[in-house]
Amino acid sequence: MSVTVRYAPSPTGRLHLGNARPAVLNWLFAKSQGGRYILRLDDTDLARSTQEFAEGIETDLAWLGIVPDLKARQSDRFALYDAARDKLIAAGRLYPCYETADELDRKRKRARALGKPPIYDRAALSLTDEDKARLEAEGRKPHWRFRLDGRPVKFTDLIKGEQTVNTASMSDPVLIREDGTYLYTLPSVVDDIDLGVTHVIRGEDHVSNTGTQIEIFEALGGAVPVFAHHNLLADAEGQGFSKRLGSLSLEQLRGEGYEALAIAIVASVTGTSLPVEPYSSLDAIAQRLDFSMISHGPARFDPAELETLNARIVHHMDFATVRDRLASIEGLTEPVWLALRENVSRLSQFAPLYEQIFVSARPVIADEDREFIDLARELLPTEPWDETTWGQWTGALRESSGRKGKALFLPLRLALTGMGEGPELRTLLPVLGRTASLARLS
Ligand code: GLU
Repeated sequence: MSVTVRYAPSPTGRLHLGNARPAVLNWLFAKSQGGRYILRLDDTDLARSTQEFAEGIETDLAWLGIVPDLKARQSDRFALYDAARDKLIAAGRLYPCYETADELDRKRKRARALGKPPIYDRAALSLTDEDKARLEAEGRKPHWRFRLDGRPVKFTDLIKGEQTVNTASMSDPVLIREDGTYLYTLPSVVDDIDLGVTHVIRGEDHVSNTGTQIEIFEALGGAVPVFAHHNLLADAEGQGFSKRLGSLSLEQLRGEGYEALAIAIVASVTGTSLPVEPYSSLDAIAQRLDFSMISHGPARFDPAELETLNARIVHHMDFATVRDRLASIEGLTEPVWLALRENVSRLSQFAPLYEQIFVSARPVIADEDREFIDLARELLPTEPWDETTWGQWTGALRESSGRKGKALFLPLRLALTGMGEGPELRTLLPVLGRTASLARLS
């Protein structure tokens, strides 16, 4: 059986780090199985979904390296949902209810007062045709509930293992609102059947929906997919990410200069038994990550871990990879990149550092170091220079001046770069060249 997965965000906001987790986990699974990846936009909420957010989601996925094989939009597919609705009504599994929100609230309170669970009492199931006609004549419009079967629904989750959802303790879920709009539950099942989805990989907040959805798959005569519910990524305080709070959107992280690969690694590998490390690509993670490695506990996002990971990736990036992204730096050469790359943790920090060292550097020479710096200028080796030049120069200086350690190195660094710390001078010196070095030492 060939594998088909889907990632199904609602275009009601930009993707954040928490949304990236199912996006990437679905992709990794599809890659490891040679399967198809569908991007399904869950935009049945027409009021809150926008085209701009839909485009934003595609941009963010592309940035992460995810290129869907197929795109679907629920708002294009209402005819399918209507057909499924009619089928469920004909089978007696979908029934109209006329209670208002207030009436339902009162029912729940009464049940609680009697010490019973606040489950919908299915009063609407005993309405006669005349009752319904009378209620509609009063101006009421029905919402539609799915009649649950009442037997425990069992499934084998690829991450969480054997699961049982006891639908007998749940209210019959509303699938269609009073205004005729669909809640997420039914369209999702209809699409999973229609698009041949074999694996549903999503957050564990959907486990209880799964009980209902399996019953709907069966009622519609569709093949029930395999489910895999992963732990949700939470921030350092244990809070989930929220689209509305705009917390850590991928757009924002990209703007702050983080590498897409670092984000994809953190989004997928956090909360698993794999270490958060600079894997070379999504494929490299796909080869190593197995659902059995996903922890049953929470997945905690640690900003410091992201920073370190990003730095490790940047420190190994070759010039060809960054050249275009640093095109704003005129005349940037490979040796300059190599000399400075280990001093930034994000690419966005590179241009300011470059500017500081090569464009606007102001050599600092303390009065008590003047003589020493004069000597340094005299002993500066002749070109050609390479990575051994620094050692030769400072070796000679140590002998003639008697200085060592910080007293030897810091005045040189301050004169050459204007900064108390920064790039390794062994690599920087040949890049700076003799003429510029002499000028800074003067
Ligand atoms: N639109 C749903 C969500 O974002 C999809 C859940 C699912 O994958 O079935 O939560």
